[in-house]
Amino acid sequence: MKEHQVLVVEDEPDIARLLHMHLRDANCQVTLAADGHQGMRQAFVRHWDLIILDIRLPGPDGLSICRALRREQRYVPILMLTSKSSELDRVLGLELGADDYVTKPFSVSELMARVKAIFRRMESFEKQYAGEGEAMTLGPLAIDSGTREVTLHGEPVALTAREFDLLLHFARHPGQVFTRAQLLDNVWGYGHEGYEHTVNSHINRLRAKIEPDPARPIFITTIWGVGYKLDARLPPSGVAASKTVVNLHP
Ligand code: CA
Repeated sequence: MKEHQVLVVEDEPDIARLLHMHLRDANCQVTLAADGHQGMRQAFVRHWDLIILDIRLPGPDGLSICRALRREQRYVPILMLTSKSSELDRVLGLELGADDYVTKPFSVSELMARVKAIFRRMESFEKQYAGEGEAMTLGPLAIDSGTREVTLHGEPVALTAREFDLLLHFARHPGQVFTRAQLLDNVWGYGHEGYEHTVNSHINRLRAKIEPDPARPIFITTIWGVGYKLDARLPPSGVAASKTVVNLHP
């Protein structure tokens, strides 16, 4: 079994110790960061298979660290630890692109089940993308799944990891309508009832970056009462010569 590199950013020593112990038992190499400053630094020194982020930390909080990580091109799975009864934290965490969260106090078995689910998803994602990178064109829009670069009329478009995954998902299924729940399952990798607005806000941000007129989208169109689709009337999304091998964990 592959050893996973996990960063735990948690200022409560008891919880940090507990996580350390159980993650080690699950064949993880664990690094602990005891405050937001250490966490922010550690998060960027190397590539992690998973970052477990407490929200309330001395120094930069978990949300700031999550936000900073999601500005990076490279995708890292993030599991948030939220305080009890803080709905806002959950929503913000997901809005910011955390992969999952558990609410404190949590049961260790519940948390470890989430961790394992994230590893399983990453492995199937890697398998799916392990082959050759695809270069697709949708009219003026070019998407390279290998380098994760997008250009519009030849100009690079800066997308977050999640916006890129969303666009790639649509590009691979032109003309197919997806409900918000399906997009949460397929792109976020889990079902979160009631978090459909997360999809809306990501679609809006993606449109602001790629649509000539975001109020009248031509790429990702809304099917009222159902969801979204990539407009298949665009020039065909031919899969061009493969170029790059995607390696999420070199
Ligand atoms: Ca804390």
